[in-house]
Amino acid sequence: MIKRKEVEPNGQVVWEAHTSKKLIALTFDDGPNPKYTPQVLELLKQYDAHATFFEIGYRMEQYPQIVQQVVQAGHELGNHSMTHQNEKKVGAQSMSLDIIMADKVIQKYQPNHLKLFRPPGGYIDNALLQKANQLGYKIILWSYHQDTKDWSLPGAQVIADHTIRNARSGDIVLLHDGGGDRSRTVQALKLILPALKQQGYQFVTVSELLQYQQTKVNLP
Ligand SMILES: [Zn+2]
Repeated sequence: MIKRKEVEPNGQVVWEAHTSKKLIALTFDDGPNPKYTPQVLELLKQYDAHATFFEIGYRMEQYPQIVQQVVQAGHELGNHSMTHQNEKKVGAQSMSLDIIMADKVIQKYQPNHLKLFRPPGGYIDNALLQKANQLGYKIILWSYHQDTKDWSLPGAQVIADHTIRNARSGDIVLLHDGGGDRSRTVQALKLILPALKQQGYQFVTVSELLQYQQTKVNLP
């Protein structure tokens, strides 16, 4: 595995942004999904929130109109590979082809945009990091304290409490709008958005968040 202290300072891999501004990046993986993605979009709109959607290439091909809605609403697309395969099983070479295929789909909707890749399962090793970098991609993971584990289907309140209780400036929150029953995630958003907004947080895309990244000063 990669070592955080080696790959975070140069921005190759991002877990969160170091910033004092009250900004949070909500991220949604494994969509687009015809049932849940539109519900997420509606809620984000209601709270003036922007987010990043790490979508799977083949699902983008299945639901182009939803991808269009995501982009038109001012959100950002991230690459979550074409088929969501596991690099541990298939290797970095096969994974990089999967990134390239998904990239071709994303480029149709979002040309000239910062390239963000979230590896399926969050698994990243040096070989994959190198491939992703060669393709012009930055790796985006998530804040350790903002892994909602919504995929494991806890109740909406549990998901919401986790995010609200742990919220800090610069967080990247991991949520899912695809890959299963995401009704709890949608319900949780109804709690997360107003609560954090009331605390003064603004919801931005990952690439917007990175603009506020403050260089960490290492004191002697
Ligand atoms: Zn995923």
